[in-house]
Amino acid sequence: MGGEYRQILKVKGIGLFSGGLDSILAAKIIMAQGVEVTGVTCTTPFFSSEKAKAAAQKIGLYLIEADITKEHLDVLKSPKYGYGKNMNPCIDCHTLMLKIAGRIMEDRKADFIFTGEVLGQRPMSQNRQSLYIVAKNSGYQEYILRPLSALLLPETRPEMEGKVDRQRLLAIKGKGRKDQIEMARYYGIDHYSAPAGGCLLTDPMFSKRLRDLFRHSMDFHIRDIELLKYGRHFRINEFSKAIVGRNSIENEALQRLSHEEDIVIHIEQFPGPTTIVPNGGDEITIHSAASLCALYSDAPKNEEVTALCRKGNSISHIRVKAAIRDDIWCWLIQ
Ligand code: SF4
Repeated sequence: MGGEYRQILKVKGIGLFSGGLDSILAAKIIMAQGVEVTGVTCTTPFFSSEKAKAAAQKIGLYLIEADITKEHLDVLKSPKYGYGKNMNPCIDCHTLMLKIAGRIMEDRKADFIFTGEVLGQRPMSQNRQSLYIVAKNSGYQEYILRPLSALLLPETRPEMEGKVDRQRLLAIKGKGRKDQIEMARYYGIDHYSAPAGGCLLTDPMFSKRLRDLFRHSMDFHIRDIELLKYGRHFRINEFSKAIVGRNSIENEALQRLSHEEDIVIHIEQFPGPTTIVPNGGDEITIHSAASLCALYSDAPKNEEVTALCRKGNSISHIRVKAAIRDDIWCWLIQ
């Protein structure tokens, strides 16, 4: 009956697709059953779709890119199931992605959703209970198939309805990658990235900066998140911080991201970093930021130098001495 069904009506599946090996294999397994597969990859300022786009192209998968920034930020500010080791709210994030995939399934009148999740692969987000919670909270539980671990999980609706042949699904579990690597060889997939890479929310340093941003301003913009990716960050007081570029690429990025309300500082006559005070600050703050700028510049450390401070179209000059390293550690967000 299942085979007949698939011959009469084209079955459609929506696959959450990160471009990592597990998502590639899940797509391959479902495609091999003659299902018309559409991939969905999610983007936010914390993870991009580049890896997914490259992998989709290689395996000939049609891919939809969904920018989920707004909904993801809501989840990130107050995750129902908390954070992982860093600022990664993996259970809530997975739930949101499944919700997005579910909406796309409905829009495209597809039959089911699938993911590359492997039972027991990640302690927090892929244990049996987490897989159950994310599916249930997404609102699409019965439609969510995990082809790599399906035989270890309850039967899903597409399997019961014969839209997917359960016999041709797998029973992989755990952190080991042996089965996946063998399958990759079988399918001729040679270039694939490490699992779980590419999400800034799992990065300890980025997470500290993000926590600092949350603590001092819940009224931030996407630009403020972008700024967390560059430079050294110094929390000068409750209201202000300074960001000092570490190389020419970061200096350019800080310039590019700066806006009219920021103070942008350079040291006159000496090569050195771009320093910005996002959204401006009082005189003492600007002086502190200029002294940081002088410290990381080539200016002599024991003499006063001139710092050029620009705000929009107005430029002012202030005289500063380089900050003393021992005095600034307490400002450093690290
Ligand atoms: S690692 Fe990042 S992208 Fe992946 S589920 Fe966790 S928060 Fe979401």
